[in-house]
Amino acid sequence: MAFLNGIAASNGIAIAKAYRLVEPDLSFDKTTIENPSAEVERFRNAIAKAKSELEVIRDRAKVDLGPDKAAIFEAHLLVLSDPELNSPIEDKIQAEKVNAESALKETADMFVMMFEQMDNEYMKERAADIRDVTKRVLAHLLGVQLPNPSMIAEEVIIVSEDLTPSDTAQLNRQFVKGFTTNIGGRTSHSAIMARSLEIPAVVGTKSATEEINNGDLVIVDGLKGEVHINPTPELVAEYRNVHEQFEKQKAEWAKLINEPSVSADGHHVELVANIGTPKDLKGVIENGGEGVGLYRTEFLYMGRDQMPSEEEQFEAYKAVLEGMAGKPVVVRTLDIGGDKELPYLNLPKEMNPFLGFRAIRLCLEEQDIFRTQLRALLRASNYGNLKIMFPMIATLGEFRDAKAILEEEKQKLVAEGQTVSDHIELGIMVEIPSTAVLADQFAKEVDFFSIGTNDLIQYTMAADRMNQRVSYLYQPYSPSILRLVKMVIDAAHAEGKWAGMCGEMAGDETAIPLLLGLGLDEFSMSATSILKARSLIKNLKKSDMEKLAQEVINMQTTDQVIAAVNAAVK
Ligand code: PEP
Ligand code: MG
Repeated sequence: MAFLNGIAASNGIAIAKAYRLVEPDLSFDKTTIENPSAEVERFRNAIAKAKSELEVIRDRAKVDLGPDKAAIFEAHLLVLSDPELNSPIEDKIQAEKVNAESALKETADMFVMMFEQMDNEYMKERAADIRDVTKRVLAHLLGVQLPNPSMIAEEVIIVSEDLTPSDTAQLNRQFVKGFTTNIGGRTSHSAIMARSLEIPAVVGTKSATEEINNGDLVIVDGLKGEVHINPTPELVAEYRNVHEQFEKQKAEWAKLINEPSVSADGHHVELVANIGTPKDLKGVIENGGEGVGLYRTEFLYMGRDQMPSEEEQFEAYKAVLEGMAGKPVVVRTLDIGGDKELPYLNLPKEMNPFLGFRAIRLCLEEQDIFRTQLRALLRASNYGNLKIMFPMIATLGEFRDAKAILEEEKQKLVAEGQTVSDHIELGIMVEIPSTAVLADQFAKEVDFFSIGTNDLIQYTMAADRMNQRVSYLYQPYSPSILRLVKMVIDAAHAEGKWAGMCGEMAGDETAIPLLLGLGLDEFSMSATSILKARSLIKNLKKSDMEKLAQEVINMQTTDQVIAAVNAAVK
């Protein structure tokens, strides 16, 4: 039995067999062979196995993900049967008497290079297909197994180096009971997705992929951030008990679903949800969300190979607005970059993607993308209570430029005879320290602020939110962060505006008492945290929390702040 410590990224307990989403070692030596005909036979065998494997994957993808997503496997099957690729490989084995692995790799590499150099998107995609197919055939030649997440048909815990947001989005909730990764933090997007899917997760274990083999029994303790490998039956029994207690606790919180979010001394706040897709609305409603405080629209653009059209976006935004039936919905415009990539944009790799060409910076430059999204939003505004928010605003100039583009699109739509709601609030995310510091000036021009602490903390502390080795610096309760938060809230209130928070800190048990005391108006969090937060706030007096907040602002260290909160909130 082994044990790993990591970061508790998504609540709950999961117990199941491990499924490694890890690329196996595909290295080999180039050798000469005695019997080329037998080697050709071995190659053909590997092709046949790869084919039947791909046919099964394609058929399953058709059912689970739809024909669009299955088309990629169809393309791979075509490559596998293509004599233009296979014949030169067989010829090479015969003529040069080399092993099939090296004949395959060298021939495929040549085609990949040739296609990649062509100035033609279609050919470049074929290069990617050849690379994928080569990997699959190579795995069969070497007798190792490639992971096939779409083939998972029993309850598993995913073990991987990291999970990209699009990997996470494709996890089948029915079978994937939990996950654990080597890297990542509480605010990496895989962790955020895990919370909205209610899949227990422990990230940043450093060595999960080294320690855990396929089929090992694993306990993921997403409450404490622990992973147990091949636990004793006693420990499994203990954890089944913890799981039951957790479910009971959840049933208690569920009683608050239709209750308002009011402190013990009658102060009202709004508890709203962060969502990534219209599908997440179900969770918002089931958890008593009073609205949507952050709709991360970038997920609409991810896991596909081209931009979503205006019409497709309009349908998604309309669905969310209608689904919330008049409750507020804050939609954030495209925030791509950082750990969220869009391969089809073909953006050059950057040294520091979190500090690079992302979010509003990209939208102000690639205006076609931005304008399409704004038009879709403006058209959808007729279907509910829409608020629009721009991400990663660093200067007033950026806000003014973005607002001007929005106004232009609005005028165009009106000129075309379309109706657009005339009370759309327009706000910004405060996630860059310069904006927090200048919040008093921004507050004169925006309708609201939403504090994005996930990024605000990483930029203030200069500690990458994805990097487990500097996670000790990632300190939401640092007096420096709390001072910035206070500046933003005070600046909003001085201009009669409201201030919300949509970073993960808004749903954090230790932060909530402080945020209540600092006067935060709207708390936006993973839907699954809302009822717990409501229960906590019901038991707190705002007047007491104001005093506490005032005290901690003047403290020196995070530890002092945590101790003060723990002493005040029993
Ligand atoms: C944030 O930065 O706090 C935020 C909510 O945005 P994201 O996590 O998508 O960067
Ligand atoms: Mg952010």
